[in-house]
Amino acid sequence: MRNGNGRRQPAIFFGHGSPGNVMEDNFVTQCWENLGREIGKPKGIICVSAHWYTRGIRVTAAPNPGTIHDFGGFPKAMYDLRYPAPGSPGLAGEIARRLAPVDVLLDDERGFDHGSWCVLAKVYPQADVPMVQISMDATMLPHQHFALGTTLGQFRDEGCLLMGSGNIVHNLPEMDWRMRDGSYNWAGRFGDYIRESIVADRPDRLIDYASQGRDASLSVPHPDHYLPLLYVVGARRADDPVRFETPMVEYGSLDMTTVVIGA
Ligand code: ZN
Repeated sequence: MRNGNGRRQPAIFFGHGSPGNVMEDNFVTQCWENLGREIGKPKGIICVSAHWYTRGIRVTAAPNPGTIHDFGGFPKAMYDLRYPAPGSPGLAGEIARRLAPVDVLLDDERGFDHGSWCVLAKVYPQADVPMVQISMDATMLPHQHFALGTTLGQFRDEGCLLMGSGNIVHNLPEMDWRMRDGSYNWAGRFGDYIRESIVADRPDRLIDYASQGRDASLSVPHPDHYLPLLYVVGARRADDPVRFETPMVEYGSLDMTTVVIGA
C-alpha cells in the first residue's frame, strides 16, 4: 500500500465489460485485484457508473445502500452476491454542497449498481471502504460532465478515490461472441484516438469525441458508458502520472481499457 489516507488518491476509469466478470478470474479481473493491492484502501470512494444515468444529478445517501442486480440472464449465484460496503451520508452531503449551484438530490433509496460493485468486489473484496455513487445527468453536455469531474477531483486530496466505470467502446448489438479477443477496425481506431488523446493530455479531443464521425457513433452509440471517462480525466492534475491497463477489445466492440491517473 503506497497511498495512505492523507495522500492524494488516484482517479481511475474501469472498463467494466460484462457483469459476469465478478464471477470470473481472468486477465481483466486480475488487473483490478492488483490495482486494489497497489493503491491500498482510500478513506472513501466516489463512483460514477454507466448504469446510473438520470435526469438531474443524484447521490446515494443511505448509510447502507443495497446491492442492485441490474442485469439479466446470469446464473442464480450472481443474484445472491452482495457488496455490503457502507455508504457515506456525510460525503454525499459534502458533494451536494461542493457542486452547488448545480442541484444534487440526496437519494436515500438507491443502492450500488453493477457498474460499481462488480468491479469493486475485485478491487476491495472486503467491502469495507465507504462509498457513494453519483449519477450522470442525461441532459448535460460532455464538457459539463468533464467540469463536474474537475470539481469532484478535489476530493482526491481528502482521501477519496474517484472512480469512473464504463467502457470506451461499448456497442452490444455489434458484439460478436466468436471474437473473444478480436476488434472491429472502427473500435480499434476509436480506442486509439481516445488513448492517444489521454497521453497527449488533450481533454478537448476527449470532450469532442463525436468529431470521430462514424467511428464514434459505432463506438459510443449511447453516451452512458463513455461519459464516466470524462469525470476521471476531468480530475487529472498536471503532475499526475497516467497509464493504461488491459487496453484491449473483447468480442469486437467492447474496449476493456482501464485508465489509471495519479497512481
Ligand atoms: Zn455496463
